[in-house]
Amino acid sequence: MPKLTIKQINGYEILDSRGRPTIGVRLILSNNKEVLAAVPSGASTGKHEAWELRDGGKKFFGQGVQKAVKNINRIIAPILVGKNVSDQVGIDSLLIALDGTPNKSRLGANAILAVSLAVARAGAIAQSKELFVYLADCYGLPLPSRVGIMPMLNVLNGGRHADNNLDIQEFMIVPQRGSFKNKIRMAAEVYQSLKKILQAKKMSTGLGDEGGFAPDLSSNEEALRLLVRAISRAGYKPGKDMSIAIDAAASEFYRKGKYYFEGQALSAKKLIAIFSKWIKKYPIISIEDGLAEDDWKNWREMTDRLGAKIMLVGDDLFVTNPKRLSYGIDQGAANSILIKLNQIGTVTETVATIKLAQHHKYKTIISHRSGETCDNFIADLALASSSGFIKSGAPARSERLSKYNRLIFLEEFYF
Ligand code: PGA
Ligand code: ZN
Repeated sequence: MPKLTIKQINGYEILDSRGRPTIGVRLILSNNKEVLAAVPSGASTGKHEAWELRDGGKKFFGQGVQKAVKNINRIIAPILVGKNVSDQVGIDSLLIALDGTPNKSRLGANAILAVSLAVARAGAIAQSKELFVYLADCYGLPLPSRVGIMPMLNVLNGGRHADNNLDIQEFMIVPQRGSFKNKIRMAAEVYQSLKKILQAKKMSTGLGDEGGFAPDLSSNEEALRLLVRAISRAGYKPGKDMSIAIDAAASEFYRKGKYYFEGQALSAKKLIAIFSKWIKKYPIISIEDGLAEDDWKNWREMTDRLGAKIMLVGDDLFVTNPKRLSYGIDQGAANSILIKLNQIGTVTETVATIKLAQHHKYKTIISHRSGETCDNFIADLALASSSGFIKSGAPARSERLSKYNRLIFLEEFYF
């Protein structure tokens, strides 16, 4: 097969699911094939994430990404033109070196990731492979024999993703039975049941940023009760057919050693006690960011107390960064990691973090961001890395469904 090279790369400004600017990239191969990619953007971002470059100034209230687009078009593109598109690792290394900062603040992690994603997708096309097969080959990952990924679907939104009164950012359902397609069907049924329950209670059925409902509730625990009812009402057994996962995103309600939760200033110990009580009462299998991003000592304590029972997931804690993950592994903090490409900025570094996690028996959850596009790269990444879980919001709204639907497609035609 002749080697295909990169003929042209152009960044441009598009909008994400929140109506805020983000970056799209168009890559042209030497055989004139066109490849597109787009990057997502978070709202409850971890302080240690790679740098998302925004313009400041008046346009889009400072949120524009024209500087990052310019970096793609004027700095990155001229260097990558003519390069072998199948050399993902080499190109990612080049991008990292070209930026030269520890957090990609010169060119912007959004600019770098947009190119890294487009190059990967173009590499797959150059070799006439589905993206997940290409990624697995590229990084020496064993291909799974089935789509065994469990979706975590955020059906009740709170925290930074909604204007309601819930401190906990995400209440997710995790279907356990059958094929991937069947799991999504179960989740969609529970989502509809939840809507009916909310309507009957005259509660808001307006949606939050990740497609879940966002009503005001009397407490965070009421959300758990609602999920259990919705699961039962759809004809499923809570805990057997469908479990619950939460993302507390605790950095958002942490200040100076205290967790401001339901109107009280709690110690980490008190918050862990609340989680412990919830785990006994509800079929919770996973708590993400139960504590703040730099509260290592208490993360360790929480892991000692709850780590044998459930998944404790580091999102803002690890920010997909191998250095922070290594530190966490040494400290005995958490037992699972959320993986977000734009927290670190290249496909190669993301895969390195996944490999490190899996080597140390940390579970990997491949995740969307609250600000998304219909780019579904993460579906293939979840499959290529044999990750146990994917988190892509509610079973509603196309930018959320594009990931789940891609996995349904792959399961249907490739397994
Ligand atoms: P974000 O939230 O994309 O707004 O950062 C997602 C998460 O915290 O998991
Ligand atoms: Zn999170």
